[in-house]
Amino acid sequence: MAEGAPSTPGRKPSTVQVAQVERAPDATASAGPSESPEKPAKVEVETRALPFLLDFLPLQDAKNTRLSPFFDALRLGRLTTTRCRRDLELLWPPRVACPTCHGEELEWVDLPSRGHLYAFSAVLAGAPLGMESELPFVVGLVDLESVTLRLFGRVVGVSWQECRVGQPVRLETYDAPGGRVFYRFRAE
Ligand SMILES: [Zn+2]
Repeated sequence: MAEGAPSTPGRKPSTVQVAQVERAPDATASAGPSESPEKPAKVEVETRALPFLLDFLPLQDAKNTRLSPFFDALRLGRLTTTRCRRDLELLWPPRVACPTCHGEELEWVDLPSRGHLYAFSAVLAGAPLGMESELPFVVGLVDLESVTLRLFGRVVGVSWQECRVGQPVRLETYDAPGGRVFYRFRAE
């Protein structure tokens, strides 16, 4: 999705919830004997916009990216990419120009929705901003059926302890903040 990356003003940012904990006044003071029980910490949750460079989801609408057809199809549950009409090269991620012949005569084609895990890893700590509550999670490289494309993505429906190379997976889409959509793979 490299084409969606350039900075563009006016995009509606996705948001992340940030919890701020206020300590009770006597929490750090040297408590004397027989004081009243410590009050529980007060948690306030506010919603902040994710900083642009930390937002993992690309721009999706036609105003912001020429790859918007990819996201339009994804909203319909279809994974697509571009193929060069001159040399018939199947490109991933989708492009606006062929990296081989530099032509812009590309067509959108559907990709299979099933595949197998070629490799995977588990994210146990240090999740990206906004994904902290999803730890631990699995990410992997998926070989799609009947095409020579290997896609990176989140893998759900299996714990990292039970995940195995060769695991059959199928594509699924999900709603993302800001009215956006993205894909991931579910273990079968
Ligand atoms: Zn080409």
